[in-house]
Amino acid sequence: MQNVYKAFGRRPESIVKKLKEGATREELKSQGMAAVIDASFEVPQGEIFVVMGLSGSGKSTLIRTLNGIQPATSGTVEIFGQDITKVNSRRLRSIRREKIAMVFQHFALMPHRTVGQNAAYSLEVRGMNRSDREKKATEALNLVGLRGYGGQRPDQLSGGMRQRVGLARALAAETDLMLMDEAFSALDPLIRKEMQDQLLELQQDLGKTIVFITHDLNEAMRLGSRIAMMRDGKIVQIGTTEQILNDPANDYVAQFIQDVDRTRVLTAGEIQEPPVALLGSEQGPRAAHRLMRENQTSSLCVVNQSRVLQGVVYEHDIAEGVAAGKETLSGLIKPMPATHEDTYLAELMTAASEHAAGLAVIDESGKLLGVIPRVTLLNAMADPTPTSSVQTIYQEVAQ
Ligand code: ADP
Ligand code: MG
Repeated sequence: MQNVYKAFGRRPESIVKKLKEGATREELKSQGMAAVIDASFEVPQGEIFVVMGLSGSGKSTLIRTLNGIQPATSGTVEIFGQDITKVNSRRLRSIRREKIAMVFQHFALMPHRTVGQNAAYSLEVRGMNRSDREKKATEALNLVGLRGYGGQRPDQLSGGMRQRVGLARALAAETDLMLMDEAFSALDPLIRKEMQDQLLELQQDLGKTIVFITHDLNEAMRLGSRIAMMRDGKIVQIGTTEQILNDPANDYVAQFIQDVDRTRVLTAGEIQEPPVALLGSEQGPRAAHRLMRENQTSSLCVVNQSRVLQGVVYEHDIAEGVAAGKETLSGLIKPMPATHEDTYLAELMTAASEHAAGLAVIDESGKLLGVIPRVTLLNAMADPTPTSSVQTIYQEVAQ
């Protein structure tokens, strides 16, 4: 999207013209509503891009200009290189059918059709033959955990399951772009979290490009590769979870993030650091000692030649090993807690509290990716805004 405006009223163009000349949304209220003001962003293929903002901030309008259901008053919207603000309505409909799938909050399933027929609906519209679309719909239902439910009626399903049918319908369409407008907002917290996990899991295999709208910042941060924060029609900040948490663009964003539970939105991969130095498991205590001195650290991760983590060595053990004239690390390596990149910080606390060296982050094959020293973990959890509940005490002792 490039400089997209969307105004409602009798003369939307005139509203946009005045906005461009510097008028505010407030000043133009008598003429109509400036729902989206100068929105620009780009979503790379395979990203989950979240649009986040309070109710009325223009999120739904933004997404509707993205699929052309409510064309932008001004600006350009390109989907896979096609400027949809320039194509005729027939071409637009076909782009929407072939390239874009939508999931809404109140997903309207057709009550007289089976779950399977509902999931196949977009394929039917596209004119796909019956057996092909049933096959694809069944696959999509399996993907969202509704194996065997294809023959049921929507009213036989729970709310969470119905929302899954909506997701299956979008997946069955096999479009590269998926637009989700508050798709999980009506669900109970537990089911909602389940759906978030499922979407993340599906996304690992499907690699779709997803624009996901929500008014819940925790949800935004769990799902989003990047998040656009909207306020009163404007995008006020675009960034990763980390960027927004650590460097909120203004007070509006800062207020939002006050209530975010950082330990449940930040992951090990987002806060890990490169290890200051690595010790090869074939090296000896002397080498370890030198490496510790050079890097001013009291512990070192030990890896084999394929960089697979073997454990950790501590300074006092190494000093004893050197004193005893040991040639190898045998008996000196201690266990090191390790986790994967997508683990939330909340799950790291216990292990971190028990191990002075902090935690290691490894990949599936056990290779070391990074480390999380305890102080890094603490810093990541902390709200960067200063608080008056902690004071620093320093008193010079009289001689
Ligand atoms: P959100 O999805 O963030 O809650 P919306 O995009 O639905 O916000 O709405 C943004 C603003 O635009 C609101 O003030 C809403 O009342 C207004 N709006 C949305 N659609 C229309 C419309 N068709 N006509 C007039 N005003 C609209
Ligand atoms: Mg909305």
